[in-house]
Amino acid sequence: MDVAVVGAGIAGLGLAVLLARRGRESFVVLERGDDVGGTWRDNRYPGVACDVPSHLYSYSFAPRADWSRVFAPGAEVQEYLRATARAAGVRPWFGAEVTDARWDEDAGCWHVTSRRGPVRARVLVLAGGRLSDPRLPDVEGLDAFGGPVFHSARWDPSVDLAGKRVGVVGTGASAVQLVPELARTAGRVVVFQRSAPYVVPRQDRAYSDAERAAFRADPQLVRRLREEQFAQMERGHAARRLVRPDVEALRERALAHLAAQVPDARLRALLTPDHEVGCKRVLLSDEFYPALGEPHVDLEPAALQRLEPGAAVSAAGRRFGLDVLVLATGFRSTRPLWAQRVRGRRSTLAEHWRDGMTAHASTVVHGFPNMFVLDGPNASLGHNSAVHVIESQFGYVLGALDHLAGRAGALEVSERAEREYTREIDERARSTVWLRGGCTSWYVDARSGRLTLLWPGTATEFRERNGVFDPAPFAA
Ligand code: NAP
Repeated sequence: MDVAVVGAGIAGLGLAVLLARRGRESFVVLERGDDVGGTWRDNRYPGVACDVPSHLYSYSFAPRADWSRVFAPGAEVQEYLRATARAAGVRPWFGAEVTDARWDEDAGCWHVTSRRGPVRARVLVLAGGRLSDPRLPDVEGLDAFGGPVFHSARWDPSVDLAGKRVGVVGTGASAVQLVPELARTAGRVVVFQRSAPYVVPRQDRAYSDAERAAFRADPQLVRRLREEQFAQMERGHAARRLVRPDVEALRERALAHLAAQVPDARLRALLTPDHEVGCKRVLLSDEFYPALGEPHVDLEPAALQRLEPGAAVSAAGRRFGLDVLVLATGFRSTRPLWAQRVRGRRSTLAEHWRDGMTAHASTVVHGFPNMFVLDGPNASLGHNSAVHVIESQFGYVLGALDHLAGRAGALEVSERAEREYTREIDERARSTVWLRGGCTSWYVDARSGRLTLLWPGTATEFRERNGVFDPAPFAA
C-alpha cells in the first residue's frame, strides 16, 4: 500500500474520502471497531449531540443540506459519516485494531500489524483520536459497587433506568447533555461535581422544511451559513487570549445564564466556577441547570472518592445509595494508547512523548519518517470546529504525498524544526486562558504543564501555518 490510515473517525475517514476521490494512492483504513464514526459511533448516551453547529461540524468537501437542527443529535452525525464513507466507496477493514507499527529503515516503509492481518505501507497516518479511550476515575472499589457501572462512551442500553437511583460522575460536555435526560427517567439522580463548569445558552432549534428545501436548492446558502458560523466562533478566540472586554463578556454571559436558571442562592453558589471562563471547555446547555433544580436531582459538590456495595461516597464523606453509576469522566487524551504501539527509528512514539505530545506543524514527528498524526499534538480547538483543523491537516498530508510521489526516500522532519515549533507553541500558549485560567484540564499535560492538545491560536492561523506542506524542515 502507499498509505495506511489508522482509525475511521472523522479525521481518518475524511482523509480516506479525499484519497479515494483523487485515486492516486493505494490505501487501507484500519479500524478497530465495527463501523466508521469514531467518537460518534461510540457515544450513544441519551442526549448526545454535537455542540458545534452541524453545518460547520461537517466536511467542507461533503456538505449536507439536510441537518435537522442547528446542533444535530449524535446519531445524525454518525449517519452523515456513514453516508459520506459509502458515497466515496471507502470500506475500512473493521476489527483491525493495530497492535504494532514499525518503521523498516532498509525497506523504507511501515510494517503494520493489525488483528485483521499485516500491512506494509510507505506512509502511515495515525488518526486514533483523542476521545477514543475512556478515562476511568481513580477511585476505590469500582468492582465493589455491585450494580451496573459504565462510562458515558460505553453506554449500556440494556440497563433500564426508569425509577432507578443513578449517579453521574463529572460535569463536562458529556455530563451536561446526559443529566437532563436522566432526570426525565430516573427516580433519583446524584451528580458528583469536582469542579463547576461555565455553561452558556445553547439556543438550539430545528430547521424548518422550508429552510432545508432552500439549502438543498442553493448550496451557496449552506456555504454562507457555514462561513458565518465559522467567523462567529473565531471571534471567541479573543476571550481565550484573555482580551478584554471579550473575556468579561463571555464570563458575564455564563453567569447571567446561571442566575436566570438557578434561583436558589445555595445551589447557585455551588455551581459558580472558581476558574476563569474558557480554561475548560465552555459548555452549551439550556437544560442542565433546570435539571439540577428538580427535587429528585442532587448536586454533590465533591469528587467521587469511593464505591461500596450499592453506594457511592464523595470526597466530602457523604454516602449515596445508588442502583447505577455513569462515569462521564472523559478520555485518555494526553497519553493516547496508540502511541505505545508505534515504533520509529529509535523509540516508540510514547517514549518520544514521555513529557507530553509534540510534533512539527502539529502533524509530523522527528524519528518517525513518513508518518503523519491527525488530530494529535496541538491540533484541537477550544473555541471552534475541530473539523476545520483536521481539514487543514488533510491539505498538509496530501501535499506531502504529492512531494513523495515519484521520489525515492522518506520524509523525516528535523529535530530542530520540531523543537522550534514546540517552542513557538509554548510561547503562544503562555498568555492564553488554558495556562493562566487557574484550572486543571485535559488540554494540558500534567507531566510537563504544557498545552499539548490545543492549538493556541485561531483556526484561521492554524490553516495559514500548517495547511500547506513545506518540505524545508525535512532532512534530505
Ligand atoms: P471531560 O470534559 O474530560 O469531563 C470529565 C469530567 O469528569 C470533569 O467534570 C471532571 O472533573 C470529572 N471527573 C473526573 N474524575 C472525577 C471524580 N473522581 N469525581 C468527580 N468528577 C470527576 O469529559 P467529557 O465530558 O466526556 O468531554 C470530553 C470532550 O469530549 C469535551 O471536552 C469535548 O471536546 C468532547 N465532547 C463534545 C461533545 C459535543 O457536543 N461535541 C459532547 C461531549 C463531549 P474536573 O473538571 O474537576 O476534572
